Amino acid sequence: MLTSTSMAYITEAATTETIRGKDRYDTAFKISEKVGSYNTVILVNSTSSLADGLSASGLSGAKNAPIIPVRKDDIPEQSLKAISSASNVYIIGGDAAISKKVEASLIASGKVVNRIEGSNRIETSQKVADLIGSYSKGFIVNGFKGEADAMSISSVAAREGAPIILTDGDNPSIEKKNGVEYYVIGGSTVASNKLQAAYSAKRLAGNDRYKTNRAILNKFYPNSKKLYCANGTALIDALTVSLLAKDNGIAFVGNNSDNSILKGKDIVNVGKVETETNKPNKPITVEYFKPLILDQSTKNKMKGLSMPDNAIGIKYDDLRRVNVKYWGFDNKAHTDGVLIVNKSVANDVCSIFNDLYKAKYPIEKIRMIDEYKADDESSMKDNNTSSFCYRLIAGTKVLSKHGKGVAIDINPLYNPQVKNGKVYPSISKPYADRSKNVKGMIKKGDACYKAFTSRGWKWGGNWKNSKDYQHFEKIQ
Ligand SMILES: [Zn+2]
Repeated sequence: MLTSTSMAYITEAATTETIRGKDRYDTAFKISEKVGSYNTVILVNSTSSLADGLSASGLSGAKNAPIIPVRKDDIPEQSLKAISSASNVYIIGGDAAISKKVEASLIASGKVVNRIEGSNRIETSQKVADLIGSYSKGFIVNGFKGEADAMSISSVAAREGAPIILTDGDNPSIEKKNGVEYYVIGGSTVASNKLQAAYSAKRLAGNDRYKTNRAILNKFYPNSKKLYCANGTALIDALTVSLLAKDNGIAFVGNNSDNSILKGKDIVNVGKVETETNKPNKPITVEYFKPLILDQSTKNKMKGLSMPDNAIGIKYDDLRRVNVKYWGFDNKAHTDGVLIVNKSVANDVCSIFNDLYKAKYPIEKIRMIDEYKADDESSMKDNNTSSFCYRLIAGTKVLSKHGKGVAIDINPLYNPQVKNGKVYPSISKPYADRSKNVKGMIKKGDACYKAFTSRGWKWGGNWKNSKDYQHFEKIQ
């Protein structure tokens, strides 16, 4: 599948060109050569994180300044070559991103150096916006989870000389200005509706980074005959090419991207994209229905959300990741289910979800609750099936069943919790009536009920006083 996708886009392109150096610095240098003459450059750290660099593209467009990646303590040779033709240098980020030593060496070589530095990435983006000064568009992203979204809009930001405004996903960071047209980039789970409303912004979003990227291209480059293609997971090339690509747009290409938008276009592959998509059949193998020790990226995703830094009584080693296939409400098989559960119940969970899959039991979605900022209410309202989320029983230091990862909530929107006459989530009131026939509603004796209870799990629908119809738990 990987091969056919990439071959399709290459054979159906009108023309294909490649800008690729021996590494990211060399690629950036080759890009800078194509930009033409410039007198200003913007330096970003490209080795650790793109945190500060995320906001650089608007400034790049406003100043016609190529973005040049450097390391914290030194400037690679090719980057130095790109910098040599400029007399003004902006450094994005503090000493931890690009050191004073690097700054001093530039000053010593006669450059005028300006450092744009906030106490965090959000503040840095505010300072970049201040420097841009007047602008007619603003692009709002989640500064912590919206890296791909920020990169996706980077060429538009460069074209418009418009700031990319980093936020925490929920609260405005820069004051809304009159006469500025704002766009929120990314779905409501990364940039909330509240945030969107605060800026009276339009939203551009898709189900994944590729679909969001296509929404951006359709909006801002509807008639472009040429597209720059960058790797959708290694984002540095998308950032460095944003200025060059400003009039044409950047398409993210990856293993899961729909590349039909590239058909008939002049394609410029930037950086590693072509080799990566041309690698013959090296599919990412996902292991299903098997307890997996949490890998680093899973832990990173959970850190500070479902697994707070001050968690007590549970650690990553106690948990397992179980990838599951499931039968969706669309009557199709889905392969993106992820459950985080306690290792003591992980084998059970594998068998249970294997049973549900074989029985084609409808489950709408099974995502990590971290995609909802570990907010149970948001996850429930979205009818998301999930398990582990750190929490203590109110007023105690005892982990709740979900806090241990030994409970699972199934299709919570249609299987609410009913407690003291109240229904959770509140929008699920109609489904407190269990005589209804609704897809995904758990009934005593159905395949879901049996898959759990036959393995010793208890159903919250059988509780005497309150009822928790979504909830199954294993008493240890
Ligand atoms: Zn529950």
